[in-house]
Amino acid sequence: MSKKVRVRFAPSPTGPLHIGGVRTALYNYLFAKQNNGDFILRIEDTDQNRYVEGAEKYIIDTLNWCGIPFDEGPGKDLGHGPYRQSERKLLYKKYADLLIKNGKAYYAFDSAESLDAHRKDHEKKGKTFIYNWHNRLKLNNSLSLSPEELETKLAKGDSYVVRFYTPQDEILQLTDIIRGEIQIDTNILDDKVLFKSDGMPTYHLANIVDDHLMEISHVIRGEEWLPSLALHTQLYDAFGWEPPKFAHLPLIMKPQGKGKLSKRDGEKGGFPIFPLSWGESVGYREAGYFPETVINFLALLGWNPGTEQELFKLDELIKTFDIKKVHKAGARFDPEKTKWYNHHYLQEQEDKVLLKSFKAVLDEKLIDAEVFDLSLKDNDDYIVGVISLIKERASFVLDFWELGSYFFLTPTSYNEKVVKKQWKENTSVILNKIFSLLESLEDFSSSHLEEIVKKWIGEEQLSFGQVMAPLRLVMVGDLKGPHLFDIMAMVGKKETLNRISLALEKL
Ligand code: GLU
Repeated sequence: MSKKVRVRFAPSPTGPLHIGGVRTALYNYLFAKQNNGDFILRIEDTDQNRYVEGAEKYIIDTLNWCGIPFDEGPGKDLGHGPYRQSERKLLYKKYADLLIKNGKAYYAFDSAESLDAHRKDHEKKGKTFIYNWHNRLKLNNSLSLSPEELETKLAKGDSYVVRFYTPQDEILQLTDIIRGEIQIDTNILDDKVLFKSDGMPTYHLANIVDDHLMEISHVIRGEEWLPSLALHTQLYDAFGWEPPKFAHLPLIMKPQGKGKLSKRDGEKGGFPIFPLSWGESVGYREAGYFPETVINFLALLGWNPGTEQELFKLDELIKTFDIKKVHKAGARFDPEKTKWYNHHYLQEQEDKVLLKSFKAVLDEKLIDAEVFDLSLKDNDDYIVGVISLIKERASFVLDFWELGSYFFLTPTSYNEKVVKKQWKENTSVILNKIFSLLESLEDFSSSHLEEIVKKWIGEEQLSFGQVMAPLRLVMVGDLKGPHLFDIMAMVGKKETLNRISLALEKL
């Protein structure tokens, strides 16, 4: 029987998650769920200098908001915890020692200053300093020191790091689910630090030890970690552990194509880069995107099902997603497409569900405004009615105001271009007549209004445009909006007549 699928999302709490990180979490989640596996959250906080307060909570809030919660992680220990590396600190030293004992790693006492001097010296000659087979015997470490010298240094408590002993002249065979077979010559690798002088493991050691102890079956992570695969594979080998399978996801690229999508691209292009707001940066959630939107567009950044289908909900993604079909090439981010998805998911929401968010917008917009009928502000049926009329053109709840403010406020100005074009000599006469016609009506429903007004236009031998365009201008202040008779019925007879007389005064 093959091993149980266990995957992990292993962010470092150094700030808010970039949407690329959310995609990594999503692909892990999808892979876990489609294989009845476990999705684990591990917080990689060994670098205390880069630790940012609130980042862990942000990560967890993001996963929950997206609807991809972890099965196991901080606060949810199912036997493989703790899940914060800082709380596992004591555990790693033993593994560093084990590698030293087996000749797979060594102590290095080189001071920061001496390494810096080497680096500068190399730079002067146009070379790069690499700590590895070609110079390690000349540097200050347990390979170059005599056993006695080493003993003395350790006894004195000299500060050291532990470095991996990369073998010379070997060709490593690496396997990646997405990229296939990769060959690496060990001679180009450096002897990476595994354990630091401050008693903390580096990312590499902690990551491998934890993936092993947490019984991770598949490592799915960003392409930026591909260069570490050679070391990680060798570490598994050095410990004699079976390695997990690896999949390195392509980068998410700028809308223009070249280069990795950055926070600055978002600022320039006016779109979010973070799932939730962080400091000054507005997140997808706060900008009015639905979690369904974020899940959908992220899933398709780097993968597609090989069909024309673009709309996917989470449960469908679990069925369809295929890690083997993830692309090697970077995926271009398209901010317009994210709006398109949001438009779709907005249409899917029930009007009643949108009511709450729209009411919050209205509260803000109407705070000092003169609503023609104050009771409308709290009239849920009315507001739901408005939503149903304008929703089709909206991509965000925030658009509702732009699209439908006239359902609450009487237009006091009119689009001048439209006035010039539509307000003709006989318009006042026509509107005066319409006023009387509408005043006489008892049934002010949309369908009745339509029937009566159309009949009247015929009787008066007027054209449709002569009546409908100015009437819309009067009701809306512009030539936009849904079906005119719906608007009139919605705001009611009193307000409709009010708007007509107001326009007759003003225009
Ligand atoms: N802590 C690493 C990061 O922040 C995790 C890399 C990995 O998944 O191995 O991206």
